[in-house]
This record gives sequence, C-alpha cells and structure tokens, in this order.
Amino acid sequence: MKLIYINLKSNSISQKEITPESDFYLLGARGLSSKIINDEIEPQCDPLGSKNKLIIANGLLTGSPFPNSARTSVGAKSPLTNGIKEANAGGRSAMMLARHGIRGLIFEEVSDSLRLLIIDENQIKLEDAENYKGLGNYELHSRLKSKYGDGIGIYSIGPAGEFLMRSATVASNDLEGYPSRHAARGGLGAVMGSKKIKAIVILPPKQSQIPMYDLKKFRETSTPFAKALAQTKQTFSTFGTPMMMKGMSGYGGLPTKNFRMSSYDKIDDISGEALHEMVISRGGKKRLACSPTCVIKCSNLVVDENGEHITSSLEYETMCLNGSNLMINDLESLAWIDHYCDDVGIDTIEYGGTCGVAMDNGEIEWGDAEKVIDILNTEIRNNTEIGKKYGNGVKNIGQLLNAKRVPQVKGQEFLLMTPES
Ligand code: SF4
Repeated sequence: MKLIYINLKSNSISQKEITPESDFYLLGARGLSSKIINDEIEPQCDPLGSKNKLIIANGLLTGSPFPNSARTSVGAKSPLTNGIKEANAGGRSAMMLARHGIRGLIFEEVSDSLRLLIIDENQIKLEDAENYKGLGNYELHSRLKSKYGDGIGIYSIGPAGEFLMRSATVASNDLEGYPSRHAARGGLGAVMGSKKIKAIVILPPKQSQIPMYDLKKFRETSTPFAKALAQTKQTFSTFGTPMMMKGMSGYGGLPTKNFRMSSYDKIDDISGEALHEMVISRGGKKRLACSPTCVIKCSNLVVDENGEHITSSLEYETMCLNGSNLMINDLESLAWIDHYCDDVGIDTIEYGGTCGVAMDNGEIEWGDAEKVIDILNTEIRNNTEIGKKYGNGVKNIGQLLNAKRVPQVKGQEFLLMTPES
C-alpha cells in the first residue's frame, strides 16, 4: 500500500510505499489522517489556506473482505472547529482506492485553478476542471460518468465547497451511483474547495482483489464475524438509523424546536416506521449497502409518488435536525432537504441546526420547509449574502443574529440527541 502526495502548487505527484518501518504502517483512516495533521500541519494555520492539508484515507482493512471495512475517512484542520477533524462516509471509492494499492491521498498547498484528480491504472494526474465550475453534485457526477464511464468512483464538492462555506461536505457516489454519501462534518468540503479540487475520479482497477498473505485464514475469522453482525442487526437493517426517531422522542432526547424541547408531538408523521411505509409503498428501496463489504445494509432509497429517485439515504440525524428541530412533520420535505443538501454539498446536521437558530429568531417561520429548501437551492447554490449566512454553520448564524440559544460545541452543531439526554 502507498500514500500519494499531490502538491497543488508545483503540480507534482509523488508516492511513498508504506513499509513495516514506516510511521504509518499500522495506521489507517482517522488514525492516519490525524497523525499527518498533528505532525505536519502548523496548528495556527488558516484551515482554508495553503498550509492546511486534505487527507483522504482508507482503513487498515479496506480492500479486504472484512465486513463494513470499505468506508472513506476524510481529515484536515477543520474550518468550523479549528481542530483536528475526521469525517467518515460510505460509497464505492474507498474499495477502488485500495485496489489501486492506495491507502491515502494527501493534498498539499493550493491550486490556482479548478482541477480534477484522475486515478487510473497507469497514472495519477491533474486535469483542468473549469468546465465543471459551480455544478451541483448530481449534475457533476452525471457528466463525469458520461466522460469516464459508469463504473468510476468519485469524491467531489458541490457549490458550497467551491464557495468555501464552512458547512461544506465531500461527496462520494454510492453503489447505486448517486452522490449520496458525504463526509459531512467539520466543513472539510471547504478545505477541498480551498485547494480547488472539484473532484477525484477513480477509474476501475484491473485487479478485483488486493493480494492477501493468507485469504483462507483471514476468512476463517471474518466470515463468522460477518454472519453474527448481519444476524444481530436485522431490525436495524430493516428500519435503518430512522428507527431512532420514535425511541428518542419517547425517551426525551430528540432535538426539537431548536433544542427547546426533547420530544415531538407529531413524531408519528416522521418516524422510522412511517418512512419505511412510504419507501415500500412507493417502490423505493430498503436494506441497501452504501459501501462494498457492508453486511448490515441499513440504507434506504426514497422515491417520489411516480417512483423517481429523491434521495438516498434519509438518515436519523437529517430527519431530527431538519424535522422535529424545525417543526417540519413531512417526510417528503425531509427527503428533498436531504437531496438539496447532497446536491449543493452541505452537512444536513449543520444546516438543520442553522435553520433552527434562524427560526428561533424569527428569520423563518417554524415548519416552513419550502423556505428551508429554497435557501439551499437558490441562496447557497448562488453564494448570495443569505446563502453565506446559512452555509457557514450554526455558530456563524448565531453570531449574526445575536442569538441566545445556539446548539454548538467548539463551533460545530450538536448531533444525535439533546445534551441533557
Ligand atoms: S449501509 Fe449502513 S451499516 Fe452499511 S456501511 Fe452504510 S451506514 Fe454502515
């Protein structure tokens, strides 16, 4: 396995083999990116400046058949927290990187024009990406697939990343081909935008498996673990993370009305069970894996009444931060909020928290899903003053509105549950 260094100032690409003597030999994913950030990045540097580095790292077992091991870890100094940040996503690309023999990509310095990084069997190169400028992730992925083939893996940023918004994500295409999996937290899409990398395109490698010392022995351990994991997660596989909605509301831990309340009287409208019914009745999909080797398969694919794709996957955090937290009790609206967050490349958690503060301060009516969608699709997409207000996180809007109630820690929106629970 090797690390690939991409210097965007000199346009040079180099690689280092990870040997048993290397500092990184037993490090992958968060451990690998955090060590590089800790050792190589000046602590006081501007997270959106040339001294920060963006690291896309695989886990130690990525590329093997070990269950749930093919996820992507993105790391950098965060423009939201100013600390060491890791954000994790599913998608197809981590496995493809591993099969190219790559454990990590390290972007250094900044480019002076928008670029693609292309990873092919024979070479890794930078290409001009000015003609993709401003595209949302859906259109971008569609164009990249037309040019490079349907089987490619993609990491990309939407307009929010290009505009250096501090809630911006790094998107990854899922196994169905949609740009639905996001390394969303901490504004790492803005770091990718500051480096002017619009997308990383990974062409399918020729080898379908990475060589292993003793695959038979490895499977003797991994197969029983995979079976146990799948068997013990049956309910979770059926309902996915949205199954937490009702439980958290009943237990008193559900973020509701900008965290003023911890349960929601309209929870039945937006529960995991209601989503399950809607997906099944419309011909959507359940029990999907979002990355290769996943045996739990907790993801869903939500379609409209005509069976057309809206989003995949609608998850608990998106539903509570944009649902109960904003008093929006309509699953279809939540699916569209998720869709537009994915398209412009904004963290659904940070965005739900931001809109919650705005509603609490009279900027938007409680429950106004149309406005929440319009801000994403019009204001953030076009980098308007309103877009900047809503695309830079909960702390930013709290300061702009002089708000008294801002749910954040170190500049980043809370996730999952109310603090008291
Ligand atoms: S489908 Fe669910 S369990 Fe499987 S990798 Fe994706 S998030 Fe994890």
